[in-house]
Amino acid sequence: MNRSEPATTSNARVEADGSPCAKCGHVNSRNANVCEKCQAHLWVVCHHCGKRNRRSDNSCVECGHRLHRSMWRRVAKRLTGDRRNISVWQIVLLIVVVWCAFKVVIYFAEYSPPSPE
Ligand SMILES: [Zn+2]
Ligand SMILES: [Zn+2]
Repeated sequence: MNRSEPATTSNARVEADGSPCAKCGHVNSRNANVCEKCQAHLWVVCHHCGKRNRRSDNSCVECGHRLHRSMWRRVAKRLTGDRRNISVWQIVLLIVVVWCAFKVVIYFAEYSPPSPE
């Protein structure tokens, strides 16, 4: 009952011929992280198992997890990225707006028709 797996199947990945750029098609050296021609990132790390994959691949060679985010995820990341670039004056402005809103709420909460004395 011995399951003898040939060792060659695990090394089926084609890494010997370098890393082709997903953007411009330039074949870079195997150890290159970015494209020598257009500086695009050649590798993408799998979010599921951490395996480093070629950017040109659509799914992880290790676990089959999808490597590239969907469009709405990219948009969401862009939105949160913009929010992270918030500056001090924007925070001050936010505080002022919240304070004004608070004041208005308090004004209406405390407002009561003048009672005859
Ligand atoms: Zn390139
Ligand atoms: Zn994976």
